Amino acid sequence: LLLPPAAVIVTVIILAVIATSRRRLSPTGEIASGLHRREFFVRYQPIIRLEDEVCLGAEALVRWRRRDGTEVPADQFVPIAERSGQIRELTDQVIDRVLVDMADTLAKRPDIHVAINFSADDMDSGRIITKLENALKGTGIQPQQIWLEATERSLMHVDRARATIIAAHERGHSVAIDDFGTGYSSLQYLQQLPVDAIKIDKTFVDTIGTDAATSIVIPHIIEMAKTLNLVMVAEGIENAEQLAYLRAAGVQGGQGYLFARPLDPGDFVAYLNRPRGAVAPEATQPETSF
Ligand code: C2E
Ligand code: MG
Ligand code: MG
Ligand code: MG
Repeated sequence: LLLPPAAVIVTVIILAVIATSRRRLSPTGEIASGLHRREFFVRYQPIIRLEDEVCLGAEALVRWRRRDGTEVPADQFVPIAERSGQIRELTDQVIDRVLVDMADTLAKRPDIHVAINFSADDMDSGRIITKLENALKGTGIQPQQIWLEATERSLMHVDRARATIIAAHERGHSVAIDDFGTGYSSLQYLQQLPVDAIKIDKTFVDTIGTDAATSIVIPHIIEMAKTLNLVMVAEGIENAEQLAYLRAAGVQGGQGYLFARPLDPGDFVAYLNRPRGAVAPEATQPETSF
């Protein structure tokens, strides 16, 4: 049977398009299959009390290990999932994962907390409060042990964010503003939202000891947080000079490669139980073995 040449060409093009689209899913399609296959997991970066370097807890940081073994960092898929609405499912999986990874440790150590990152969708809807309540049932983990972190951007719908923060407090959770100082109206958020803590963004910590124009900002952030009685946690502490500065300035907590990288659950537990004064080997090694 002979087809006219035009029909053959059209058929070949259609088949080629189908073959290509089968091989390459859109980023959203890939995240969907990653969610379906439960390829997302969590690393835990220790949060340290600067005064005496005691570990206070950890921040839960999501990672994606794809079927080919490659590991995708959070900032390469979280923003996509936020835009597509998949962040809800991702947040749920992160909460479930944290409770599986940390149930024993948190139940044994009521003094330790885990901070989970939430997006605008999570803070707008407040559904994470119910999700957390259900997930915590029967685990022996106190709500006080779960902190919420939300960036200024995710708190933009101030009224809805405030309702979520108030509901979080009623349950016993603490709430921190993440990446503090990088938004365009940080001060306004602080005035309107009853948060407990701020995470001082790494970009400000980076300026400590330099004469960058932005280095004049960090004393003001610290002053303001003190005036408002907010707990301060500095992120991205990489050297002893930064630690000394933040400690002297009265910043209570910190995290960064100087102490430890984000760790797999077992390594975090080992870090927690390490003898005082021991140097964490993880702090000097790359995060992944890939
Ligand atoms: P973030 O919440 O501000 O987290 C801190 C980021 O700084 C993490 O990057 C951490 O690995 C990195 N970091 C910590 N200490 C140091 C240091 O000393 N030096 C350097 N260079 N980096 C340091 P990560 O894990 O790639 O996460 C990036 C962002 O993705 C997070 O920023 C957070 O906004 C978002 N994210 C991570 N996990 C989740 C999650 O489960 N849900 C949501 N919605 N967002 C998440
Ligand atoms: Mg965070
Ligand atoms: Mg942060
Ligand atoms: Mg940050």
